[in-house]
Amino acid sequence: MSSRACQPCTACCDGWVQIKVKGCEAYPGKPCPHSTGTGCDDYENRPVDPCQKFKCAWVKESSALPDGFRPDACGALVIDHALTWQGLEVDLAVPVGREIPEKTLNTLMQLAEKNMRPLIYQQQDPNSNVLEKNPLTLAYGPPAFQQWVLDQQAQGKKLW
Ligand code: SF4
Ligand code: SF4
Repeated sequence: MSSRACQPCTACCDGWVQIKVKGCEAYPGKPCPHSTGTGCDDYENRPVDPCQKFKCAWVKESSALPDGFRPDACGALVIDHALTWQGLEVDLAVPVGREIPEKTLNTLMQLAEKNMRPLIYQQQDPNSNVLEKNPLTLAYGPPAFQQWVLDQQAQGKKLW
């Protein structure tokens, strides 16, 4: 069992990563109605999928992320192996808030290089005051990976 505990983090419940709970969508700016901001007010009845199944990369026992990277504390919610590119596992980081703090993003980029895991990360549009349901998607990794992400987006294909 992981020694890391979620609470008081509710970053996934708060919609920073898009989820659907009992038919109700949560996304940036629209939390699950059961989120109290520090926990769940219907914990005993939370569904298996996604609530009991979902584990961000930080809370997993095998996590490569530092202790201080609980999503609400570091400003990024990481999903490991969100997709695969040329046989490499690609991680996804979404901001908990408008953008991933620079210090956090730098560490994620260093880990991506060290562990040979290309990174896709999202940031809200700095020119907009509203929280977009689908933030801007950026890539960090080999030039061919970055080009592939651009091509996928240009073709309107889903990356994960
Ligand atoms: S984002 Fe991770 S640490 Fe935070 S509540 Fe969800 S699974 Fe737990
Ligand atoms: S039902 Fe509870 S555990 Fe599930 S997303 Fe909502 S607040 Fe989180």
